[in-house]
Amino acid sequence: MIDTEALTIKKAGEMLREGKFSSQDLALACLDKIKEKNGELNVFLEVFDDALEQAKKADAMIKEGKGGKLAGIPIAVKDNILIEGRITSSASKMLENYRASYNAFVIKKLKDAGAVLIGRTNMDEFAMGSSTENSAYGPVKNPRDPLRVPGGSSGGSAAAVASGMALGALGSDTGGSIRQPASFVGVVGMKPTYGAVSRSGLTAMSSSLDVIGPFAKNSEDAGIIFDCIRGKDELDGTSIDLPKEASPGKSIGVPRELLKEGVDAEVLANFDESMEKLKKSGYSVKDISLPFSKYALAVYYIIMPAEVSTNLSRLDGARYGLRKEGDTVFEMFSKSRSAGFGPETRRRIMLGTYVLSHGYYDAYYNKAWKVRRAIMKEFSEVFNEIDYVATPTAPAPAFKFGERSDPLQMYLSDIFTVSANLAGLPSISLPSGTSSENLPFGILFTAPALRDHSLFEIEKSLKN
Ligand code: GLN
Repeated sequence: MIDTEALTIKKAGEMLREGKFSSQDLALACLDKIKEKNGELNVFLEVFDDALEQAKKADAMIKEGKGGKLAGIPIAVKDNILIEGRITSSASKMLENYRASYNAFVIKKLKDAGAVLIGRTNMDEFAMGSSTENSAYGPVKNPRDPLRVPGGSSGGSAAAVASGMALGALGSDTGGSIRQPASFVGVVGMKPTYGAVSRSGLTAMSSSLDVIGPFAKNSEDAGIIFDCIRGKDELDGTSIDLPKEASPGKSIGVPRELLKEGVDAEVLANFDESMEKLKKSGYSVKDISLPFSKYALAVYYIIMPAEVSTNLSRLDGARYGLRKEGDTVFEMFSKSRSAGFGPETRRRIMLGTYVLSHGYYDAYYNKAWKVRRAIMKEFSEVFNEIDYVATPTAPAPAFKFGERSDPLQMYLSDIFTVSANLAGLPSISLPSGTSSENLPFGILFTAPALRDHSLFEIEKSLKN
């Protein structure tokens, strides 16, 4: 019996190469876990029928000493990342039957390395949400407590890793969608520097913020996935190769003023305890000030919907997506979009259209960009003094279904994560123990641009 809930990617890779088990055995163990739990948790929208065939090929690769550290490792993929020939629905009715005509850059990389793509995971529709309750296919349940949400929008990918249905997963992070669900289910989730991973083949949400990144059980595993999928790609003009990094630093800044209101007392206590642990391991921790970052959420909820409304305009029933006929072209567009999009998607398209409209553009969109630049600047200034900014990942642990039915309350889940997206910085959520109700906590570390690898170094000191 392979215990996929405990097994790391690194260990599995060693065992595969030593011939302790085959990739087919490993894929079967994950498929068994899916059979056992997916009915209840609703993690996968589709389990790929060729998973065992892929594993067989990986076994041959491993025998020949080919493939990378991910050869033969089952990986789950968020349903907004294109896999050639497969449906990529972004958990929307709009794209229920949409089949990808090419592989995303990250998928090509995973396939070349011999990874086994096990299925596509459930998410908030078009990656908009913090709980997966916005999926058109029903919410994902948190494997730690099925009465609670797994976070979002990449809740399915997070839950797949936490429950042993896959050893690693890909998600996308526009405002926290990898890091917040990672913290809600107790795994590691990492958002790379903007551009460090190509967006080619990622269904666009907000193009100046979107980035693909890994979920795994620990930092080392997350680093293995990240190193496989990153790199410059000619199909994404914003993509880059990371330069070689200087050795990671040991000083942490805490923006105390951002933690004063609205943060759960247990979350704060856990955060302070973790900082104490890090101090004991030789880190210095001091308070810093990021005065513009208190506007990060407001800025995010202007820039993001503006880009969403633009990106989703192609889903009109003519070019892509569900089509409902009408007497005029306008009626066809309108009927198709009303039938295809869920309420949150419609809300954001309306917000975005409003902030971009003549007369409001300067007041909202342009002003938000000015503050975004100020946020970028204040981060680059504090990084002259420190190596990481630390906060809790989310203001509270996983909440119950229906508890945040007011959209504004839901948006507050992202209060700590959005700044890294606005400033394009790499950021990681690390598990940091559990609450009195046995719910996982997460701590968020953000590093200077291009210093992604420094984020994988902190976990060992937190564990001590
Ligand atoms: N929860 C955030 C939102 O609803 C973040 C989404 C994301 O990162 N894709 O917009």
